[in-house]
Amino acid sequence: MSDTPKATYNRVMLKISGEALMGDQGFGLHPPTVERIAREVKSVHDMGVEICMVIGGGNIFRGLQGSAQGMERTTADYMGMLATVMNALAVQSALEAEGIHTRVISAITMNEVAEPYIRRRAVRHLEKKRVCIFAAGTGNPYFTTDTAATLRASEMSCEAIFKGTKVDGVYDKDPIKHADAKRYETVSYDDVLAKRLGVMDASAIALARDNNLPIIVFSLDEPGGFKGILAGEGTYTRVQG
Ligand code: UDP
Repeated sequence: MSDTPKATYNRVMLKISGEALMGDQGFGLHPPTVERIAREVKSVHDMGVEICMVIGGGNIFRGLQGSAQGMERTTADYMGMLATVMNALAVQSALEAEGIHTRVISAITMNEVAEPYIRRRAVRHLEKKRVCIFAAGTGNPYFTTDTAATLRASEMSCEAIFKGTKVDGVYDKDPIKHADAKRYETVSYDDVLAKRLGVMDASAIALARDNNLPIIVFSLDEPGGFKGILAGEGTYTRVQG
């Protein structure tokens, strides 16, 4: 398409939290919100960008919450991982309704609903322009989907992780509570860790740092925001070395 700008990246990882799928409901899945996100992904896919996705599970279940209520931690974490599979299937369905070919690839084998994770196979899907949705986190308890996104982005040789949030970057304090909060244009991995800027959990940041993988924090609530950044526009924060 002639009006489609050239993308500044060839292969990216989009990480969104489970909560991004729940709209204003406070729990679960809000289909119009899932469809909106699918359209955002489609607009980037239309630019020819190869897209990996990791979706959290916090809209359904978080291991830490379960363990705080007396559940054994690892069992609770496995429940959290299963929640991410439900979200992945919801996003797959919405993307396919937009005409995009996708694969849900699970770190926990469940062949009836998702492919098992085989790195070379996933790379091949990306080369064929299928959106790969990596589900069930890393497959291990005590981790988060931020770490899963960083791990899979490294394995898939993504050029950056795009972390979609409610705000357009990383601020020195919570911009929702403080009118004078300042957004960083760029921030180092070490500053994110030292100042506890809450971009991603510490394991994910450390893994991104060790693999020199930039993290672009941007607002997923901004219509056209994901595409805009891929076209070299918009506001965001880049976490880098
Ligand atoms: N989880 C896990 N290992 C992983 C990824 C996720 O045990 O590699 C569990 C963990 O209990 C976590 C839950 O899955 O609380 C949901 O993931 P996350 O909290 O990262 O979701 P988000 O906050 O992004 O919605």
